[in-house]
Amino acid sequence: MANIDQYLKNNHQYASGQALHKAAYPGKQKIQPARRLAVVACMDARLAVEDMLGLQTGEAHIIRNAGGVVDEDAIRCLIISHHLLDTNEIMLIHHTRCGMLAFTDDLLKAGLEGDPAAEKLLGQATARKFTGCKRASAMPSAFHAFRGPIEPLDAPRDAKNTERLQWDVRRGMSAILNHPWIPTEGPDAVSVRGFVYDVDTGKLEEVKYPGPMGSIG
Ligand SMILES: [Zn+2]
Repeated sequence: MANIDQYLKNNHQYASGQALHKAAYPGKQKIQPARRLAVVACMDARLAVEDMLGLQTGEAHIIRNAGGVVDEDAIRCLIISHHLLDTNEIMLIHHTRCGMLAFTDDLLKAGLEGDPAAEKLLGQATARKFTGCKRASAMPSAFHAFRGPIEPLDAPRDAKNTERLQWDVRRGMSAILNHPWIPTEGPDAVSVRGFVYDVDTGKLEEVKYPGPMGSIG
């Protein structure tokens, strides 16, 4: 059985209140992740990656950023994780109610530069007074907000926002699977699977790949 199938079983246990992760110093360990797993996941405070997968300290690389986006730095980490530290399975995890559904890159940049209309919209979306900095910057060049029409922050799950999450999981999987320095065939191949985590139930749902990656319509 692939390790990831075992993590999905562990996830069922976690969702029913029985986390398998032991919060204790395990003693001296090797640098290579013992389960040969690399996880890319969102930084959202409601995701406890070790708990949801039943991972112990030393078993996996966990790469986190806003959105679980497969950006240049995530790719950098995955290349190092595989080629130098021997991981061979990758899990990409997005989640319901993700903040990356609630804005666009242009909106956030305009707000940060002090556009009053953008400040107002961002303030309404986040229930927090948004205060632009009235300065421009070339970096970050992208915030990687998810594709599709924006919705209020932390909106409940529905078919449309679930589809938007699935689009972005596929986009991330595609970015990994098609990178020339991440082998997906032959004896050194890495396998990649993508998931949406439901923050209300604690359950992971696999995203079929390939499939639609989004529409501006
Ligand atoms: Zn998120």
